[in-house]
Amino acid sequence: SKDRGRNIYHFYTEQMNHDMNRRLKIEEQLRNALKLGELEVYFQPVIEIRTRKIVGAEALLRWKNSILGQVSPDEFIPIAEQTSLIVSIGEYVIENAFSAAQKWQQTYNLQFKIAINVSPKQFRENNFVEVLNIKLEQYQIHPTSVELEITEGVLLSGDDIIETNLRSIHDIGVNIAMDDFGTGYSSLSYLRSYPFDTLKVDKSFVNDITVDPADLELVGAAVAMGHALNLTVVAEGIETEEQYHLLNELNCDYGQGYLFSKPLPQKEFEQLLAEQNFL
Ligand code: C2E
Ligand code: CA
Ligand code: CA
Ligand code: CA
Repeated sequence: SKDRGRNIYHFYTEQMNHDMNRRLKIEEQLRNALKLGELEVYFQPVIEIRTRKIVGAEALLRWKNSILGQVSPDEFIPIAEQTSLIVSIGEYVIENAFSAAQKWQQTYNLQFKIAINVSPKQFRENNFVEVLNIKLEQYQIHPTSVELEITEGVLLSGDDIIETNLRSIHDIGVNIAMDDFGTGYSSLSYLRSYPFDTLKVDKSFVNDITVDPADLELVGAAVAMGHALNLTVVAEGIETEEQYHLLNELNCDYGQGYLFSKPLPQKEFEQLLAEQNFL
């Protein structure tokens, strides 16, 4: 009926209004988040599957706002991306990650890799490589101990700048990882065309390997294919011993997940490192 149609319409506009308000509020608050010191870089350990030793960390951003409370990066990163705030936020992540890595390089004399997520707009900045080089120099970070994680979204536009940036980054020794592998459409062809070092199998596949034979097959195929292409393979989202066991059988190289540790504030992450070094 007409009434029903009107109600549905009403419902949709309300929902849209709500989403729009939330989006605007996030954008407004995000503009001041950096200078208010509301953004903090957390670190999740990356472990070598075979030995269960921590061999690196992924930098993951956390935002606690006075009005909105804790906002998930899945919600605020896309908004930062649309508003270009991501460029300054991204630099902040690089600085914090490098500063931590510099300290760990000096304190624990281990072969340690720091992984940083780079969003499409950030990566397409003309001076991205220049900024990266300056920061590497400033914090005395060995390029080979840095890995940049990009998703298919970074490559989609097909701009020349992307290829140019990827090559120059790779040439200075910084590693490049394909993040969220398996969730996009063309990840496979990208792996052949660009200088990737690492493939990160998305957690949505890892999640079901113990219950869904098809997902187990897929992850096994991703590992074998990664190795055939000379890539290091990382599994995301390992939560159980059973999942860990299967990934070990599949010869997956590295892993991350709540089984080992959630992303931690720098201090807590360092306690974890210290404990490992005493073992
Ligand atoms: P991502 O890069 O795929 O990061 C992995 C996400 O999985 C992280 O969510 C991490 O906390 C979560 N995770 C790790 N282990 C487990 C597990 O065992 N189980 C489950 N269910 N989840 C696990 P987080 O930190 O909420 O980040 C979400 C996304 O936001 C990231 O996905 C990434 O795309 C983006 N992001 C986070 N920090 C940054 C950043 O500094 N820059 C950019 N550009 N994006 C970021
Ligand atoms: Ca990532
Ligand atoms: Ca992922
Ligand atoms: Ca993701």
